[in-house]
Amino acid sequence: MATAASILFDTGARDRIAAIPGRLRETFRSGRTRPVEWRKGQLRAVECLLKENAPRLEKALAADVGKPPFEAYAADLGFPLGEAAIALKNLDHWMRPQRVSVPAIQRPGKAWVQFDPLGVILIIAPWNYPVQLTFNPLIAAIAAGSCAVLKPSELTPQTSALMAELVAKYLDDDCFAVVEGAVEETQVLLEQRFDHILYTGNGRVGRVVMEAAAKHLTPVTLELGGKSPVIVMPDANLDVAAHRIGWAKWTNAGQTCTAPDYVLVHQDVEKPLLEKLKAVITEFYGNDPKTSKDYGRIVAERHVDRVASMLDDGVEIFAGGQVDKAARYIAPTIVRGVKPDSKVMQDEIFGPILAVMTVRDLDEAINFVCDHDKPLALYIFSGDEKLCARVLGETSSGGACINAALWQAANPHLPFGGVGPSGMGAYHGRWGFEALSHRKGVVDKPTWTDPKIAYPPYSRVKEWVARKFL
Ligand code: NAD
Repeated sequence: MATAASILFDTGARDRIAAIPGRLRETFRSGRTRPVEWRKGQLRAVECLLKENAPRLEKALAADVGKPPFEAYAADLGFPLGEAAIALKNLDHWMRPQRVSVPAIQRPGKAWVQFDPLGVILIIAPWNYPVQLTFNPLIAAIAAGSCAVLKPSELTPQTSALMAELVAKYLDDDCFAVVEGAVEETQVLLEQRFDHILYTGNGRVGRVVMEAAAKHLTPVTLELGGKSPVIVMPDANLDVAAHRIGWAKWTNAGQTCTAPDYVLVHQDVEKPLLEKLKAVITEFYGNDPKTSKDYGRIVAERHVDRVASMLDDGVEIFAGGQVDKAARYIAPTIVRGVKPDSKVMQDEIFGPILAVMTVRDLDEAINFVCDHDKPLALYIFSGDEKLCARVLGETSSGGACINAALWQAANPHLPFGGVGPSGMGAYHGRWGFEALSHRKGVVDKPTWTDPKIAYPPYSRVKEWVARKFL
């Protein structure tokens, strides 16, 4: 068995990192990862890894990104545990070849789709949900019968080191490796040939990943971000809306890819919605959120600067606004009077500022959304089913919720992914198994008969049959 999978970048590191995919490919070629029993064994090992080390992982998450234990468990550990359980329960079914019908001209014969493992997958994860966003793709790779190289984010160093230690200890070391590090290490990996790359992070690096993948014609799944809008109409239940928007926004201090980025609220209900959102902050985190054990921190000082700079732009701070760089703290914040050209509207906020803009009617809200990049998520709050259906039908987004937020990303029965600049491809549950499998179309014909209908020399009868049945 190979030893520790954690590698630090030094002069020899390039060669050691570059050698990993080849080593894993050798195991893959041996056929070890194909049997359902091996896959289930590794999925059970993932379950043990997460359960037996939950306190250590939660501690690392608290140190790296100030996650409250509830959020660390629910989003980072509970989610992949749920994914592993669903994969274990359904794997036999997922792997079963799917019979399809055979056109008359090809009969007799059988045809089916079989799900082939791809080989060696590169999984590049970000820092905001470092365990979930490493293990969910890993679970998909295991279910699909592939090996994987995992590259966690350097911005969560304690979690990254612990995942490297635990993956080496619990999983098949000839099939899985963790490469720790930052840009240099990732670039060495990206120079190698993989059979698929699943990258989660920002779109700028997404382009770097796709460019590198193009050199080997490697397919990619890009799980990116963007500015996810919330539309609130006058007939919405404002109390419920404020709670659900507030929870989705300020969980993990706003560092969630599907968090509400900005609100397009009908001008008639701006005031009551703002008041209710403000009250929600106090209800969730008390009068001073800085002292709340349930409120997270910003991952790094440079991200505090990035997010705080969005407040320097003439917008009105309706609630919050306090910043303590040394403590990596930004209060849950609501800004109003936001204009399309305000700084807060130029890039994904990815922090605890909720930007609120008013609209005169639904058309204005829909046009605003359609005039901007297709978002990862869109949330509509209204009591009118037809209006909600209209919003879903006239906008494009990776996922959506009606009178809710975030839950589409946490339902393992739904595909999770972006569209356009918010990403390509999707995973979670069966969708992850399919994303990391090749759908091989197979035809099997018996030899006891061999109709000559397709063979030359062609005749008028053969041509008639072809025109009728092809
Ligand atoms: P990050 O800085 O941790 O980067 C992500 C990964 O890319 C890391 O492993 C990092 O080492 C690597 N990386 C960074 N720069 C690189 C480079 N130049 N070349 C090669 N690799 C490089 O995380 P981030 O990008 O700040 O994450 C936040 C973004 O991710 C937000 O836009 C958010 O919306 C998005 N996100 C999307 C999802 C999703 O599932 N769609 C989930 C979480 C976050």
